[in-house]
Amino acid sequence: MLPYFLNFVRKFPSLKRLAESDESEVLRAWEGLGYYRRARNFHAAAKIVVRDFDGVIPDRFELIRKLPGIGDYTAGAILAIAYQKPYAAVDGNLYRIYSRYLALREPIDEKPTQKKLWQYAQSKLPTRASKLRDFTEGMMDLGARICRPRDPDCDRCPLMGDCSAKKMGVAGTLPIKAKSQVRSKYLERIYVYRKRGRLAVLPSGADSRYPDFHRLPFETLAISQLKRRPAQLKYSITNRDYFIEIIDTHLPRKYLKKIKWRYEQELEDLVFPAIDRKIINANLLECLRSDKKPSRYSALSRKWSSAQRRLVRA
Ligand code: SF4
Repeated sequence: MLPYFLNFVRKFPSLKRLAESDESEVLRAWEGLGYYRRARNFHAAAKIVVRDFDGVIPDRFELIRKLPGIGDYTAGAILAIAYQKPYAAVDGNLYRIYSRYLALREPIDEKPTQKKLWQYAQSKLPTRASKLRDFTEGMMDLGARICRPRDPDCDRCPLMGDCSAKKMGVAGTLPIKAKSQVRSKYLERIYVYRKRGRLAVLPSGADSRYPDFHRLPFETLAISQLKRRPAQLKYSITNRDYFIEIIDTHLPRKYLKKIKWRYEQELEDLVFPAIDRKIINANLLECLRSDKKPSRYSALSRKWSSAQRRLVRA
């Protein structure tokens, strides 16, 4: 995460610079982080802040809350951390910590419980403004590193002395959720097909999950259509897992009218989802340069297999 952050702030060192950039430039810098709607919202919010607030994020809850992509949690976090104002910032991690701390038996994914926990979090804020920043960041760290979803590390927790779940020995069984999340699995076939040093690319709009992104030609199948064990290479979007199979030997005819041929240099300027970028970067440009006709049995295919193995490890 840190390299992505550093890369982003290097490219956009100020809100003004961000606001003046094209959306494609912002998405390109965000590539690999997922949740691209956040990048779009961030960009739109930067434009509003520069236009309406002279480039300074406002310090009032109702004004921050109106910015694109800013919910109660982010608004609370900005006010507490940047302005040291007494606002709670409660996300899934904080719901988990407080539900354990209180040994709450009510589902944390239901609105009344969330309201109750939010009020509780607000009542527990430090009274001294100078403590608000450290407190808010400390609770975020506690949720990420110690009061973890599956294996809370109670023995290292600064709250262990007063935590009801720890005292009752039920930390691992909390929080309770009303809806159990079922993960669905899919097979995604990605075609890496080249001709005369150019790669077949689908223009933006081909994948509704990534409306502004280019994609390598792909098709999504139900996992039951997969005859072998799912490949290890996968990516996930919320509660869906996509197992990847890379096909380099042919391109089905149905794509021929949709694709554009792109040279290696052009690929750098296009925005791709992280999985496509990984595939393009993992030695595949080398294959483009060699411009050999791929065949199922060629040395190139063996190179592709090793590229796939590297991707699995990446
Ligand atoms: S003592 Fe354990 S359950 Fe309680 S807040 Fe700390 S880590 Fe979470």
